[in-house]
Amino acid sequence: MRKKMVVGNWKMHGNLLENKQLLDAVISSLDGLHEDLIAVCVPYLYLPSVQNQLQSSSIAWGAQNVSQYEKGAYTGEVSASMLSDFRCQYVIVGHSERRMLFGENNNVVAEKFVAAQNAGIIPILCVGETLEQREAYNTEQVIEQQLKSVINLAGIESLNKAVIAYEPVWAIGTGITASPEQAQDVHTFIREGLAKQNSNVANQVIILYGGSVKGSNASELFAMPDIDGGLIGGASLIANDFITICRAL
Ligand code: 13P
Repeated sequence: MRKKMVVGNWKMHGNLLENKQLLDAVISSLDGLHEDLIAVCVPYLYLPSVQNQLQSSSIAWGAQNVSQYEKGAYTGEVSASMLSDFRCQYVIVGHSERRMLFGENNNVVAEKFVAAQNAGIIPILCVGETLEQREAYNTEQVIEQQLKSVINLAGIESLNKAVIAYEPVWAIGTGITASPEQAQDVHTFIREGLAKQNSNVANQVIILYGGSVKGSNASELFAMPDIDGGLIGGASLIANDFITICRAL
C-alpha cells in the first residue's frame, strides 16, 4: 500500500510570528494523530525556526528549491547539503513558478533532482501543463518529457526515493481546480507510463495533485485511486484549511 501525503508549499509567504502560529495550530491538531505523511516546504530563511518547532513532532519540513550544484561560486544559491544541515526531508524541484519565472528547463530540474537525492533528500518533482498546452492536446507529451529528463539522468529506480506532484499550471493559484476525473486521468497516465518501465516503481511512487486544493474539495480529489494526496499552496497558509485537507487523506 502506498502512503498518503499532504505537503504545504508556503511559497514566498509568512514571517516568524505567523509561521509559529500556523505551525502551533497544525501541531496541536495533527501531531501523532495521523499515519500519513505531512510536510511543509518553507522559505529557506525560516528553516532553522521551523526545524526547531517541528523536530519533536510527526510533521516533516523541507525547502522549495535547491541548487543543482554541490558547492562553489554560485552567489545566492543554496545547496542540498545545506538543506541537510537543517534536516530537510523534502525539497520541491521543478515547480512551474520556477520553470516559468526563473527559466528552469527540464535539464536543470533533473540536475536539481539528482543533487537532492545525493544529499539524502527526497525531491518532490513537479510536472504539469499550461492551459495552452492542454488546449492543444499536448498534456501527455509535456508531462512525458518532464519525467523523461529525470529518468534519463537519474534512472527509473530513482523514483523509489522521490514524490511526483502533478500540478496543472492553469489550476495553480487560480481557484480553478482540475476535476477529480481530470486529475485522475493524468495520474493514471503517469503511473501507467512508469509501469511500462518498472512496475514496482509505478506501484509505490506517491503522486500528489496540486492546484487550488482547499478544505472543501480535498476529499473528492483524494478519493481517486491514483491521487495519493496533495501539494497545497494558498490553503496551506490557513491553519483550519490545511488541517481539514490533511484530515481528508
Ligand atoms: P495553490 O494551492 O495556491 O493553487 O498552489 C498550488 C501549488 O502551486 C502548490 O505547489
